[in-house]
Amino acid sequence: MKFSLVADTLGYMEGTTKRLELTQHLVDLFKITSSEIISKVAYLLQGKLRPEHEGVEIGVAEKIAIRALSKSTGVPVLKIEHEYKKVGDFGQATANILEQKTQTTFLKEDITVERVYDTLFKIASLKGNRSQDMKMKYISSLLNDASPTEGRFIAKIITANLRLGVADYTILDALSIAFTGSKENRPLLEHAYNVCSDLGRVAEAVAKNGASALKSFQVSVFSPVRPMLAERVKSAQEAHEKIETEFAAEYKLDGERVQLHMQKDKIILYSRSLENITNYYPDIVEKIGKSIKANEVILEAEIVAINEDTGEFLPFQELMHRRRKYNIAKAVQDYPITVNFFDVLFVDSKSCLDISYKERRHVLENIVNDDSFVKIMPMMLVKTDDEVEDFLENAINSGCEGLMLKQLDSPYRAGARASNWLKLKREYRNELGDSLDLVVVGAFYGRGRRTGRYGALLLSTYDEEADRYPSVCKVGTGFTDESLDQFYQILSDKIRIKKDPRIDSGLEADVWFEPEVVIEVVASEITLSPIHKVALDKIRKGSGLALRFPKFTGKIRFEKTPENATSVNEVITMYNSQKKVVQDEKQF
Ligand code: AMP
Repeated sequence: MKFSLVADTLGYMEGTTKRLELTQHLVDLFKITSSEIISKVAYLLQGKLRPEHEGVEIGVAEKIAIRALSKSTGVPVLKIEHEYKKVGDFGQATANILEQKTQTTFLKEDITVERVYDTLFKIASLKGNRSQDMKMKYISSLLNDASPTEGRFIAKIITANLRLGVADYTILDALSIAFTGSKENRPLLEHAYNVCSDLGRVAEAVAKNGASALKSFQVSVFSPVRPMLAERVKSAQEAHEKIETEFAAEYKLDGERVQLHMQKDKIILYSRSLENITNYYPDIVEKIGKSIKANEVILEAEIVAINEDTGEFLPFQELMHRRRKYNIAKAVQDYPITVNFFDVLFVDSKSCLDISYKERRHVLENIVNDDSFVKIMPMMLVKTDDEVEDFLENAINSGCEGLMLKQLDSPYRAGARASNWLKLKREYRNELGDSLDLVVVGAFYGRGRRTGRYGALLLSTYDEEADRYPSVCKVGTGFTDESLDQFYQILSDKIRIKKDPRIDSGLEADVWFEPEVVIEVVASEITLSPIHKVALDKIRKGSGLALRFPKFTGKIRFEKTPENATSVNEVITMYNSQKKVVQDEKQF
C-alpha cells in the first residue's frame, strides 16, 4: 500500500477539527487498507509502531533528522535549520526543503506503508551511541524517495511530533463503520480494546473477520487491561443511594496504581495509563513471586511509600522519587514501599472480569499471601451509613485518602467509570469537596518574581463524548518556586505552535501545549462562566462552568493521561451537588 494514502489522510485531518469529518477521513482510509497491514496503519496514525505498553519508541533527535534531510537533499544543515526556525514545525520545514530539492534521485523507489513501518522499526531497535549514523542512513534513504507530503509526516513521526487530534475512541468508531457497516458495533470494539489495550490488534481482527471476531477477545497476560475507574461521592449517604444494600468498603491508599502481570518468573508492571513501569520497582519483581500462589496472574494493587520504622503510609509524592533512570537501587532503599492488592483480573488461563467483586475478592484472598511487603487491601462489608463513617475514620487515621466503596455483585468493568465503584474522600465534605485532575493546555508568562517562567496555567477538563478539552480555570496559586521551575521544564516539551484544535477556551493563552500533563487542583466553588467552556449551554445558554479560587495542590499526576482527567460530567455533578448543599442550607 502506498504511504502517500496515509500521508494524504493525515494531511486532510490536519485541516479540520470536526469530529465527523475526522472520522470520515479515517473510514475512507481503512476501507482501502488490506487486513494484512491495517495494524501497522493504525499504529502509524497514532505516531507509534506498537501499542504504548510495549514501550517501542521511535524518538529520533531533531539534529539527526536534520542531518539526514541534508544528506538526502543536498541542502546544507544551516539552511534547513533556518527553514525550521522560520516555519516552527519540523514536518512543514521538511516538506518545504523537499520541494526545493536540488539533488535529483535517479532510482526512486515507491514508498510503501510497509517500507516506512519496517524502516522506523529498525530505527527504534537501534541502541547506543554508534547507532546515530545508522539512524541517519535509514532516515535519509526514506526521505530520498519521499514526496513533500510524505516527508512531512515521516519527519513528524520520527521526531515523535505527530498529533492526530483524535482519541482512540474515534479510531474505534471509524473501524466500526469501515468494517461492520455502522457505529452500532462500537461497544464490541470497545470491549476488545479495553481487554487488550492494543488498537492494532483490534483493527486487524475486525478487518479480517468482522464484528464476530471481537466477541472472542480474551484477557491474556502481558496485554494490559484498561483499568476500571470510580465515581466520586460526597458522603456515606450518597453512596447508599447509589449502591442500595450491603457493599464492600476498602481503604483508598494514596499511591500508584499498578497492574501486575506474572507468568512463572516473568513479571511486568503497568501503570494506570498502561505504561511499563517495571524498572522503577525491582523490589517487587524480586520479592513478589513467593507471595502469589498461581502460575499466571493479572492482579491490581496500589503501591504506597511507607515509613519502615512506623509502618505509616506516606503521601504519593514520596513514591515519585522512584521515577528516575539511574541509581534505582538507592531509590529502592531510600523509599521503601508496600504492595496492596485489591483486585484480580486473570488467574491460570481464566479471566475473572465477568465474575462478581465478591468472588474476585475470594480468589484474591486465596492466591495472595500477605507479609510485611505484600498486603491485601483492608476491606469491610458495610450496611449502614454509620458503619461507613466508622471505617472511613479508621482509614483516615491510618493515613489513607478515604474509602473505595464497591458493589458486591459487580463484574470488573474494564475501561469504564461507573457507579459500581465509588470513592469517598474525607475532604469531600468541605467547600467544593473533591479535588479535580485537570489538563494543562496553556500558560501565561509570569511577571515580577515569576518573570522568565509561567505565572499561571490554563486548565481543561476532558469531554469524553466530543473528545475535546474545554477550559475550566486559570490557576496561579499554590505554586512554589520549585514547582514553577519544574513546570517550565516539563511543559517546554509540550509546546505547540498552534493551539490543539480540541482545546476550547475563551482565553487566549501566551503559550499552548499538547494536552498531556495532568495536575491536581482544589477550588472553593463552581460558577457559571462566559469564558470557560466546560458544560457550555448545559446549565445556562451561552455559559460554561468555571472553578472559583482554584489552587494547585502540589500534585502532578504523572500516572494519569489527559483522558483520565476529571470529565465534564463529573464537573456538572459537582456543580449540581453544590447547589443542593446551598439550597439545603437556606432551608434552615
Ligand atoms: P482517583 O485517582 O482519585 O480517581 O481514584 C482512583 C484511584 O485510587 C485508583 O486509580 C487507584 O490508584 C487508587 N486506589 C487506592 N486504593 C484503591 C482501592 N482499594 N481500590 C481501587 N483503587 C484504589
